[in-house]
Amino acid sequence: MMDLHTHLDLYPNALRLAQKVNESNSFTLCVTTSPRAWKATSAVFSKYSNIWVALGLHPEVVARKFEEREILLQNISVSRYIGEIGLDGSPQYTASQFLQKKIFDDVLSEVTRHGGKVLSIHSRRAVSAVLSSLKTYPKVGIPILHWFSGSLAELREAINMGCYFSVNMLMASSMKGSALISSMPRDRVLPESDGPFAVQNGAPLSPIGSNDVAQKLSTIWNVPKEEVLRGFDKTLQHILRFP
Ligand code: MN
Repeated sequence: MMDLHTHLDLYPNALRLAQKVNESNSFTLCVTTSPRAWKATSAVFSKYSNIWVALGLHPEVVARKFEEREILLQNISVSRYIGEIGLDGSPQYTASQFLQKKIFDDVLSEVTRHGGKVLSIHSRRAVSAVLSSLKTYPKVGIPILHWFSGSLAELREAINMGCYFSVNMLMASSMKGSALISSMPRDRVLPESDGPFAVQNGAPLSPIGSNDVAQKLSTIWNVPKEEVLRGFDKTLQHILRFP
């Protein structure tokens, strides 16, 4: 099993859970919301061989943590994975749009300078702006759009640009989400939880939930679950081989 976008460090029982996740999942990408959190979490999780901590600065906290920009940019060279980064166009973050774009573009530029990375990208209500930044930096590596919620036209554009997608149970359980998933290339989709932020039936989505995601995708795509799981493995291997 695997999880390509989890905030594992933010679960209430993170330390105990991490041990379980490390045993159950062959790969877990723990994205962080700030470079300081990345430092602290990297130290705690370094003993887990199947858990990778990605360096990020979440668009929702860019306004509050803009002063961490230097730590962010300085550590891109030493971080194998980058996330959570991106743009959020929701009304409550309109005030920080300029700073968000500044940080996002700076990160893409620095990532490009280091030959590209695997990136987990947030694009809520800001897909076209995210894609336009990605177009400016076409050599960022492998962009994975996490919890994509744009239009079908935006999805087609992202596909044409070579983007990957990580999808979770909430997305796969909604009408709009499953319609989007049905149009995604099966070899570019990976499972995520986005827990503990993503909550279903009163509980945060589990980082050990890729079998459930595969079950949903098997229905949406009308292929056996085993084929979906094999696809996850193949796509993961492709991504892990980068560069
Ligand atoms: Mn997230």
